[in-house]
Amino acid sequence: MLGSRSDKRLFKDPALVPESSTTPLRIGLTGGIGCGKSTVCHLFEQLGIPVIDTDLIAREIVRPGQPAYQEILTRFGSDILTTNNEINRQLLREIVFNQSGKLQQLEKITHPRIISSMRDQVTQLISPYCILCIPLLLEKKLETEVDRVLVVDLPAEVQKQRVAERDGISLQQVEAIMVTQYSRELRLQHADDVITNTGTIADLEPQVLTLHRRYLALAA
Ligand code: ADP
Repeated sequence: MLGSRSDKRLFKDPALVPESSTTPLRIGLTGGIGCGKSTVCHLFEQLGIPVIDTDLIAREIVRPGQPAYQEILTRFGSDILTTNNEINRQLLREIVFNQSGKLQQLEKITHPRIISSMRDQVTQLISPYCILCIPLLLEKKLETEVDRVLVVDLPAEVQKQRVAERDGISLQQVEAIMVTQYSRELRLQHADDVITNTGTIADLEPQVLTLHRRYLALAA
């Protein structure tokens, strides 16, 4: 399934294993770059909860033969291809972030398809709730695609350090990305639920479990 992740279980308590349901509650998980979205998604997956990751969908839909591939070629030209005829995502990123209007052109091709794929996948799920990991959920005004907004929160300084370390880039490069995203304060204003990721990864587990119980109760 496009954009879905593996299904390993960490918590063995049968009371925590989800029951089936036809329309899963949609939890929109968001947060700035490096705030810990993937890490939190992994913990929900370990509870047996399906996670749909829009970053993964975005990668899938531009592969050869997939719907957005030809449109991107038509719009951006064949220079955008690697020697394997795949779209050179790094080059495409450089173009859209450095040439005015190009980002909007690309998003016009990709965003409707990402959303449509996400919606399709939700309808196929059998779970009381699901996690939709959407990094730009708030910036792109996608709140109507979800039932609740869960924000993974982190102070900007820690966020910068973690991204610089993970991606091997400078603090200035991280800042350049962060200014294109909502501020911490603005994001928190839109949150129904918040996970604080200032502690260790182990500190995330009880927070995820508390939310898991809340979402199961809401879905029941
Ligand atoms: P996002 O998906 O929001 O970009 P990640 O989950 O990839 O963020 O986390 C960013 C980086 O920070 C990763 O290298 C991850 O392993 C690390 N990380 C996440 N949470 C913690 C934590 N609580 N303590 C230390 N490192 C963390």
